[in-house]
Formats: sequence, C-alpha cells, structure tokens
Amino acid sequence: MKILVINAGSSSMKYQLIDMTDESTLAKGNCERIGIDGHFKHTTSDGRSCEYDVQMNNHTEAFMQIKNALTDEKVGVIKELSEVSAIGHRIVQGGSIFKESCLVTDKVIEDIESLIPLAPLHNAAHVQGIRACIDVFGKEVPEVVVFDTAFHSTMPETAYMYAVPYEYYEKYAVRRYGFHGTSHRYVSARCAELMGKDIKDLKIITCHLGNGSSITAIDGGKVVDTSMGLTPLDGIMMGTRTGCLDPSVVTFIMEKSGLTPSEMDTLLNKKSGFLGISGISSDDRDVCAAAAEGNKRAQLAIDMLEYHILKYIGSYVAVLGGVDAIVFTAGIGENQSSHRENVCHKLGYIGVEIDDEVNAKAIRGVEGKISTENSKVDVFVIPTNEEIVIARDTMALVTK
Ligand code: AMP
Repeated sequence: MKILVINAGSSSMKYQLIDMTDESTLAKGNCERIGIDGHFKHTTSDGRSCEYDVQMNNHTEAFMQIKNALTDEKVGVIKELSEVSAIGHRIVQGGSIFKESCLVTDKVIEDIESLIPLAPLHNAAHVQGIRACIDVFGKEVPEVVVFDTAFHSTMPETAYMYAVPYEYYEKYAVRRYGFHGTSHRYVSARCAELMGKDIKDLKIITCHLGNGSSITAIDGGKVVDTSMGLTPLDGIMMGTRTGCLDPSVVTFIMEKSGLTPSEMDTLLNKKSGFLGISGISSDDRDVCAAAAEGNKRAQLAIDMLEYHILKYIGSYVAVLGGVDAIVFTAGIGENQSSHRENVCHKLGYIGVEIDDEVNAKAIRGVEGKISTENSKVDVFVIPTNEEIVIARDTMALVTK
C-alpha cells in the first residue's frame, strides 16, 4: 500500500509518498509560494529530482504538480495515480472535537472549519488542502486527518485550564491544547521501544526543539502536560516566538507603543525569541556562530533557551513525580549537542549523567542513547518522523 502524506500550509504544500510494505519514502517535495509566483521541488529516494518555478494559483493547481511529478517518466515513482491507496493530512488544531485521527467526511471537514478561529492560518489552509485533494484524486481515494493536538487530549483539566473567568472556556473554548503532538507521540513510543519496556510503565519527558519548540510530560503513554497552549506561542522561547511571559507584558507594550492587537500578535510570533533577543537571526546555527565570535546578545539568547528547557524539564519531573527518560528531537534537539550537554549537566541532581563524546556524535539523523550506564535517567536523541505516524494512522483507518 502506498500512502501520500500531505502537510498543507497557506502558501505551501509538503508531500511524501510512503510505501507501507517497508515504510520507506519513495518521493517527497514541496509546492512553495502557492498563489504568489510559485516554486516546485521534488526528489526521489533513489536520487532523481526536479525543481522549477511554476505559477500555482491555488492548492488544486499545486496538487496537479504533485500528481505530474509522481507519475512523470523521468522523476516519477508510480505509473498511475491509482497506485496511491490513501492520503493522510496533517491538521494543526483538532480542538476538543478530535481526540484521535479519523477518516475525512463532509462533517469532519465542517468540524475542522469550525476550529479555524483557534488556528486561523493553519486550519483554513488544511481545509483548502483536503478539498483540493478531493478535486484531484476523487472521493474514492480515502483520506485521513491526523491532528497535532490529539496526543495532548489526555491532559487533565488542572493542566489545560487557564485561570481566566470560566465563561471564556465555555464561550470560546479558551484552554491549553498543545501542539507537535504527532512528534511527541512518535518519539515517546520509539523511546519505549529502545528501552525495551512497555510505555505504560514509563515516565517520559520529550523535548521537541526546532524553529517552534515544545516540551511534553508523558505518564504511561498519556500526556499529562505540555508547554504550548491555546496557540503554539506558549512555552519555551523559540526562533521568533516569545514562549511564556507575564501577560501584562502584552498590554504594557501595546499601551506604550500604541500597537494594535494584530501588530502585537506579529511582535510576539514573528519578531521575538532568538531573533528578538540576538537581533541576528531566528536560526540556532546563526546565533551559535555569532555567540562563538563573542556576540553577547547571541550568547544571552542561547543561555535563555537552555534555561527555559531546564526549567520545563524540572517542573515536569515534579508533575510526573520522577522521570525514566528524557528525549531530544527536531532540528535543534537532534543536531545541537551543546544545548543538550549544557542542560543535561545541570540535571545531575535527578541522576542524569550523559556521555559527552557520545552526545557530540549524536547529530544529523543519528538515533541513540546519550546517557551513561550509571545514569538514573535514560537520555535519548531520536529523530522525529511525523510523516510515518500520519501514514500509519491512515493505513490503520483505511484497512479497518
Ligand atoms: P526544525 O523547525 O525542526 O526544522 O528546526 C530548525 C532549527 O534547527 C533551526 O534553529 C536550526 O538552526 C536548527 N538546525 C537544523 N539543522 C541543524 C544542524 N545540522 N545543526 C545545528 N542546528 C540545526
């Protein structure tokens, strides 16, 4: 069975065609700048590729590019589109409606649309992606939706409620939802596998550290708390996002600088974090390079990030009442060994001990344990794979 995994954004659409017989990726690519000037990239697992500028006025036109590339004589990996058995879509916000993945129906599309106010950019784009997919593949190809929020739906009320008047929860569903759930789910399950233990018997803290970052506390396979909130702005400091802050900072800056809610939203989401503190870049590599050359604000950004990670891990150890394993994943978590080293060296008080040499080598796709045999807590680097979770859920639902 071949499954097409789709991640539709407002002006981009990433795809991956996965052969479920061995879970290998046959081809992947990206339609960029949809509705603007358009750029298309496609690569196959055996090293063939194409890349060109092409106007794509909407998601349906983007799907036509994907379809052509997948079946193309030179860069194609299938003879006919009918070889695609099912399609899995990543959906950012499932709200309180979707607690697990499900098959796409008209009602499901309506429900995802009803959640647009909670994730305006993402969910609107996902709905466009699903509709375009139906246009191109037809209704006979089953489609499945997999939600970033679903894995976090086990959080208890005490963790997901905000202490604002209760009516805002009732009227507008204001609460913590959490994001990156598919990634946290993949790496926690993989961590249990690597430990050779049942996840039901484990307390795990997963650190997804990328351009967007979140940390999750998982007890017996169920999320009990996570750092992102109503939106992906809360939690630890990120590439351009603030992470948690005193809410009064928002009203104070708005009043002092005369910013509108939308301008303040841009400041919090796009101008803060690594970029805002360092003044150099949102990218961890650029900021680390500047710090190595003596840039003090770049160093401050790094110190703040590591402090935030440490603080969340510490608080989640308290929430879980102990911890068996800590996992690092995503762009920074998988590649930036110095952050892992600095954080883990400060966790000696809970028995964490890592092997600095092993840690330094665990980069660029390496999966493995970086803690020593003496460590009371296992520490892992596990490259995330959200696409495979989407493909597995899709296969499970369409073969049920
Ligand atoms: P992501 O959002 O998961 O793609 O992660 C993006 C972040 O990961 C950026 O801040 C990058 O600087 C960082 N990153 C990605 N690849 C590497 C690498 N090979 N070495 C160091 N940092 C990396």
